[in-house]
Amino acid sequence: MGGLPRIDLAAYGQVLFLTGAGVSVASGIRPYRGPDGLWNDEELVRYAHIETFRSDPLGVWRHWWKMRELALAARPNPAHEELARLEAARREAGGGAGFALVTQNVDGLHARAGSRELVEYHGSALRTRCSNPSCGLPAYEDGSCAGEEVPACPRCGAPLRPDIVFFGEPIPEGARRAAEAALGSCELFVAVGTSATVYPAAGFVEAARRRGARTIYLNLQPIEALGGSGSFGEAYLGRAEELLPRIFGGSRGERSGRA
Ligand SMILES: [Zn+2]
Repeated sequence: MGGLPRIDLAAYGQVLFLTGAGVSVASGIRPYRGPDGLWNDEELVRYAHIETFRSDPLGVWRHWWKMRELALAARPNPAHEELARLEAARREAGGGAGFALVTQNVDGLHARAGSRELVEYHGSALRTRCSNPSCGLPAYEDGSCAGEEVPACPRCGAPLRPDIVFFGEPIPEGARRAAEAALGSCELFVAVGTSATVYPAAGFVEAARRRGARTIYLNLQPIEALGGSGSFGEAYLGRAEELLPRIFGGSRGERSGRA
């Protein structure tokens, strides 16, 4: 694995990292798809779809209670830790501006590693919220991993639900806007452990390129093998927990005056 660049984030203004399942593999959270996937595609689509929640909420809860149990038993790995460290270095140097981390993962591991400028694009399996949109109960951290019935909202009585974005639902407004804001001034875009082939995240690289950003793909498999567009400027293959510290390990965090 030669030819890795050494990148100092100090050379860039706004940076945006997009992470996917590949960053959590070393924590024991297996990707959904592929031969080692936790669930096959049929089960994934079934239990991650809003229609299934409406018709079989207890079945969906049982699936997500198991996912929650796995996530709580897992520990952040060096990929999560490096991203948290990069953010902290920039914050110490310049108030934290210009660093954004958008994750498609719902395992909560970035937050547990200490990332703060974090956009959980698909929500978090470690939170619960009310299914009634007009209820107003705030989403809350929830460590319960089992039950005999669908939990009910203490405020309105409607079924509670995992605070994830089901298939068939839009990305929440706040997450969408935070990602768009980071993309709008992006100078460096790095996709890690994600095929970046599923919209809307697939549009990130195109938006970053239009903005003139340096675009980097870090993943175990070549993007072409995953059906990607190959519109990244650079691609480096390997494990997220090895690539991130090797490429960004020397970063000082602050922006230099030479840019
Ligand atoms: Zn409610």
